[in-house]
Amino acid sequence: MKIAIIGAGLSSCNLYKNLNKEKFQITIFEKARGTGGRLSTKYIGDKFIDHGTPYINTNNSALSKFLDDKSNENILSKINNNYYPTNGINKLCSSLINKEDLVKNTRIIKTKFINNSWTLFDENNKTYEGFDFIVYTIPATQILENDFDLEEQTKEDLKNVTYDAMATLICHREKKCTFSFSEFEKNDMFFKVINNSSKYKYEEFKSYVFHLNKDFVQENISLCKDEIFKLVHKKIKQEFNLDLKDDFVVIEHLWKYAFVKDFIKKDFIINENKAYAICGDYFNAVNLEAAYKSSKETADEINSIYKKDKKC
Ligand SMILES: Cc1cc2nc3c(=O)[nH]c(=O)nc-3n(C[C@H](O)[C@H](O)[C@H](O)COP(=O)(O)OP(=O)(O)OC[C@H]3O[C@@H](n4cnc5c(N)ncnc54)[C@H](O)[C@@H]3O)c2cc1C
Repeated sequence: MKIAIIGAGLSSCNLYKNLNKEKFQITIFEKARGTGGRLSTKYIGDKFIDHGTPYINTNNSALSKFLDDKSNENILSKINNNYYPTNGINKLCSSLINKEDLVKNTRIIKTKFINNSWTLFDENNKTYEGFDFIVYTIPATQILENDFDLEEQTKEDLKNVTYDAMATLICHREKKCTFSFSEFEKNDMFFKVINNSSKYKYEEFKSYVFHLNKDFVQENISLCKDEIFKLVHKKIKQEFNLDLKDDFVVIEHLWKYAFVKDFIKKDFIINENKAYAICGDYFNAVNLEAAYKSSKETADEINSIYKKDKKC
């Protein structure tokens, strides 16, 4: 039986890991260059910069157990109850799947269920046919933005999910510098300030990730990305008398759907007649905890439905 999964973040990769591989032939479709989603890592030569979730802290026992296992595999390192990546946070996702089952650089924009079989269409009009079941693991709003073949009730449920956006500055340089990181850390212009080079114990290579104050991002979200970052640089200049672009290579990243605010009070959505499911970080909790839990429970449900099914 063939299953297609759209997206390759934690929800997708954890779903993949928990699906019964003896029963299912699984293909993951991801629009980006690799796995990770918002557990994202940029590679600058042989150095890593985590510009989404920087490290993980959780009180959830199932998620902690999963992260402890990943620490034993040396994907993470646990320090004072925080789990830090050892070689890029995106490895948390790639370590869960067989990379032969990943179709990357492929944005799915349309799905169609005809004669009990799913066909997927990518943005270059290429089609992928013959899937018996499909699972959507991308943010709720992005599901609605595409032409996906879903029941009306599912669309209504997804409309209830809301997100906070986030604007992130990723700064790096090859040589040491006298940049005063602590001044940034104290300033309420920022939601989180990450000294990425010290996280990885890099010496010469310096990199910092600045996540802007959520209220500032929300107030300016109607502006285009360039205008938002123009304002950010202007504020930094006023506050610190500093132009980051003089000292660093600066990459600007706008996350339209960074953190879940309003979630769906179910563990996942499944429609057996139409052979689809939806899991993600917006089911019964928020963010990583929800992504982990919802994907695990969706896999358990699919395994149990098709255990009974003579078709496979
Ligand atoms: C800056 C930042 C900091 C964060 N910090 C924390 C934190 O400290 N703690 C916490 O709990 N959570 C945090 N989060 C949230 C956390 O990262 C997410 O909840 C979690 O990673 C979501 O995983 P996911 O797999 O559900 O979704 P995603 O990671 O968004 O994965 C979805 C994947 O689908 C792909 N995709 C989208 N559309 C398509 C398409 N049409 N076709 C193919 N592929 C597609 C995307 O490229 C992406 O790879 C943070 C998020 C951000 C942005």
